[in-house]
Amino acid sequence: MRVGVLALQGGFAEHIHVLRRLGAEPFEVRKVGDLSRSFEGLVIPGGESTVIGKLLDDLGLFGPLKGLIDDGLPVFGTCAGLILLADRFRAIDIEVKRNAYGRQLGSFATFAEMKGLGCIPMVFIRAPYIERVGEGVEVLSTVSGRIVSARRDNVLVTAFHPELTSDTGVHRLFLGCLGHHH
Ligand code: GLN
Repeated sequence: MRVGVLALQGGFAEHIHVLRRLGAEPFEVRKVGDLSRSFEGLVIPGGESTVIGKLLDDLGLFGPLKGLIDDGLPVFGTCAGLILLADRFRAIDIEVKRNAYGRQLGSFATFAEMKGLGCIPMVFIRAPYIERVGEGVEVLSTVSGRIVSARRDNVLVTAFHPELTSDTGVHRLFLGCLGHHH
């Protein structure tokens, strides 16, 4: 399964590592030409959403990726990736609060239930949380009453970083959604 990983800034290498471990065929997406061979899913990593958003525009990647996502390409966004999928790509109807926990408190690790996966480790780094989900958006996990992962159709988002733990559940959940898109 070929899976593109947006590799403009942030934690793309860790996603590539996990995907490879799970037997997928990840590749870096850095320019429009990288999209020419077909692929079955896309990961948007954490990092700095404003920086990644600007690079998406400057490199001409925003439009082509938006087209693919709107066409149903399965996409998984972590942290800054969640922010971009919600606020820039408008791919999932959620309201996001950025840097929601304050400067210091935004980075912490915990364990919490995620639908379908049981209790998993969750690492937050200057994380956003989801303030509100629209109709049809499924909440997958909450921490201290705040929504930290959700899904709608082809779009999966987590405010935390599963690629920074040894638990591969969220990536397996994502890979399980692939292959239904053409
Ligand atoms: N605070 C970052 C942002 O607003 C997200 C942090 C992260 O991706 N780890 O983009």
